Amino acid sequence: MPSAPARKYRVGILGATGAVGQAFVRLLAGHPWFEITALAASERSAGKPYAEAARWIGDDRIPERVAAMPVLACDPAAVDAELVFSALDASAAGEVEPAFARAGRIVLSNAKSYRMDPDVPLLMPEVNPQHLDVLPTQRERRQWTGAIVTNANCASIPAAMVLAPLHARFGVRRFFMATMQAVSGAGYPGVPSLDILGNVIPYIKDEEPKIEIEVNKMLGHVSHGAIRPAPFAVSAHANRVPVEHGHTVCLSVEFEKPAGATEVLAELREWRGAEEARGLPTAPERPLVVRDEPDRPQPRRDAMEGEGMAVVVGRVRADPVFHVKLVAMAHNIVRGAAGASVLNAELMAARGLLDRP
Ligand code: NAP
Repeated sequence: MPSAPARKYRVGILGATGAVGQAFVRLLAGHPWFEITALAASERSAGKPYAEAARWIGDDRIPERVAAMPVLACDPAAVDAELVFSALDASAAGEVEPAFARAGRIVLSNAKSYRMDPDVPLLMPEVNPQHLDVLPTQRERRQWTGAIVTNANCASIPAAMVLAPLHARFGVRRFFMATMQAVSGAGYPGVPSLDILGNVIPYIKDEEPKIEIEVNKMLGHVSHGAIRPAPFAVSAHANRVPVEHGHTVCLSVEFEKPAGATEVLAELREWRGAEEARGLPTAPERPLVVRDEPDRPQPRRDAMEGEGMAVVVGRVRADPVFHVKLVAMAHNIVRGAAGASVLNAELMAARGLLDRP
C-alpha cells in the first residue's frame, strides 16, 4: 500500500472548462493528495469566474470553492501550481505543455501532441509503470526540469488494459478492433445532435491511426531511455454511437502462443495489475472486472464500475479466424481521460517524482 505524501501538492488544470477539464475538477476537488490552486483555459474564458466560463455538463454542482475561482490564461507565469493536468485541445497543447515543462512543472496530459514521442511515457500505472524510467532522458534531451507524461486515447485504454495480461502470458501477434464510442468523447458541444441521435457515424477523425499505434506503445518496453513499441499488428475501426459516456470495444485477438477462451478468461480474472498501482487513491480495487452475463458489458450499466476507473470485460469466446474475441468497455472521461491522468500523478507522487527541486 503506497504511503500518503507528507503534504498536498498544488495542482492546476489547463483546459479546465471543457468536458475533460470538468472531470478533473470533480476528481480533484476532494482529493487527499492534491489541492486545486489554478484553473486555466483559452482567452475566451480567461478573466471570468469558473462558474461563468464553464458550461457545466455534470448532474452535480460545481464544487463551491472552484466555482468562484478565476480562470487564468495558460501561462506558466500566471498558474501557481507544481503540477498541471492538461485537458487542452491538441491545437493548444503542442505549445502550452512544453512551456510548462520548461518552467519546471510536471504536465499530465490528455492531448495527442506528445503521446508517441519515445521519451514521453504513455502511462497506465497498472500496465507500464516502468515507462516512467524514460523521464531522465526526456529532461536531458529537451533541456527542461519539468516533464510531460501522457495518457492514451480513450478507446486505446480499454484495449491496452485487457490485452496487458494476455500479451504478458501468450504474446499478442495481431488484433482487430471495432469501437462504439460515446458522444462525450468528442468534448463539448461535440457532435451535433441531428448527426448522432438515432444514428451511427462510422468515422472519427484521426482516431483509427491513434489506436493502431498507442496500444503497441503502452505494451512496449523501455530500452536505452526510449519506449520501444510491442511489435504486434493492429486493425482498428472507430465509430461514434448515441451513448453519453462509455466507449465499448470489440476485439478479436491472435496470440503467439495459441490460447482458448478458458485460458484467456482465467488470466483476465486473476490479473490485478502492477503491484505499485494498488492502493493509490484513484486506483479501482480491480482494474479489470469480468462479467459473465451474455449481454455485458454495457455502457449505461457498467461505465461507473470502480468509480469509473475499472475496465469491464465480457463475452470472451473462441474466434473462428483469430484465437479469441471479447468485448471491453470503459468510461471515456474518467478511465479514458481525467481519471487516468490523476492516477498517473498519484503513481508519480508515490514514487517521490513530484518532489524534485
Ligand atoms: P473540449 O470540451 O473541447 O475542451 C477543450 C478545452 O481546451 C477547453 O477548456 C478550452 O477552453 C481549451 N482550449 C481550446 N483552445 C485553447 C487555446 N487556444 N488555448 C488555451 N485553451 C484552449 O475537449 P475535451 O473533450 O475536454 O478534450 C480535451 C483534451 O482531452 C483533447 O486533447 C482531447 O483529445 C483529449 N481527450 C478527450 C477525451 C474525451 O473522452 N472527451 C478522452 C481522452 C482524451 P475554452 O472553454 O476557453 O474554449
